[in-house]
Amino acid sequence: MKFDEELLIPRRKTRQVKIGNVLMGGDAPVVVQTMAKTKTSDPDATIAQIHAIQQAGADMVRVAVPDEACAKALGWIRLNIQIPLIADIHFNAKFAMIALEQGVDKLRLNPGNIRNEGKIRDIVRAAKERGVPIRIGVNAGSLDPDIKERYGMTPRALIESAKRELSYFDKEGFGDVVISLKASDVKTCIAAYQLAAEELDDYPLHLGVTEAGITRIGTVKSAVGMGVLLGQGIGDTLRVSLTGDPVDEVKVGWDILQSLELRRRGPNVISCPSCGRCDIDVVPLAIQVNAAAEGISAPISIAVMGCEVNGPGEAKSADYGVAGGNGISLIFRKGQVVARATPENQLKALMDVIHEDLAKEPVAVEE
Ligand code: SF4
Repeated sequence: MKFDEELLIPRRKTRQVKIGNVLMGGDAPVVVQTMAKTKTSDPDATIAQIHAIQQAGADMVRVAVPDEACAKALGWIRLNIQIPLIADIHFNAKFAMIALEQGVDKLRLNPGNIRNEGKIRDIVRAAKERGVPIRIGVNAGSLDPDIKERYGMTPRALIESAKRELSYFDKEGFGDVVISLKASDVKTCIAAYQLAAEELDDYPLHLGVTEAGITRIGTVKSAVGMGVLLGQGIGDTLRVSLTGDPVDEVKVGWDILQSLELRRRGPNVISCPSCGRCDIDVVPLAIQVNAAAEGISAPISIAVMGCEVNGPGEAKSADYGVAGGNGISLIFRKGQVVARATPENQLKALMDVIHEDLAKEPVAVEE
């Protein structure tokens, strides 16, 4: 499926930063990332979770480094995964130094939790020597006390915290920087990133609504917060934070990008909400089609429509579709009816057509 070029969203111009083998900023696609939720000091569990995260489509992954055992496990984890590894550092500058020695691809520093300028500049010098980028990860929940006192938990406070940290980086002539300004309040987040786009240099921005909540509300807050910003061309990478499985965070991240046609990965299943006109049981069918489409990596569109009112129109404009009608469902391929099926075999009939085509002509994955 080709995107309509007139509808493509112009993106804010940012400098490009290389994290392992992944480019972020500039003309690179918006990078999807998440965070492992295992103990980093348990490398086997962490590697297994990162493999699941990779499989779901994460471009890179961050892990917590709360102690020396975690920092020392990073090298082995790095060796056993295929996506860049980011060390998340709070409080202890020593762990950042160990993480760099272990070969991580990026550091995240929380300015509110390491406040000593000398120690920060030591980390920056070591990162510069190794060519490792750093994210300045400001968080509304851990601001410098003086900044919090002066500005409160406001977008301005988040920006001032980033500016103070940047001033230390500037003294070391270090520009491989990504910035995030996270808050759990969606409006604060949006305003902070909008200010960053205006006031900070051309650093790539890492989007996130922190502590967004369990899957339903967390997905909504993330989609609203990041959707507004991405729709304005702001944001070079995103992390969805859910109280749940990191694989879901990756899936929601991709869904946000796909909704705005910023990236495509795998099928886009369009399904009607169903109503009293529905001629087929569209809810279970849509769930089954989504499940059946999970294993497909080609960026095809599939429509699942309940009746003849909008069904044929939507199903025709998708690559593939099924539309209910009078006990017989119509199966579409690129606008043409290619099969008729009973409700009992409509799922198989639809998927047979799709798999037949994919077997003949594998579709390149657009990302
Ligand atoms: Fe109702 Fe038909 Fe529209 Fe589905 S496509 S919501 S069944 S009118």
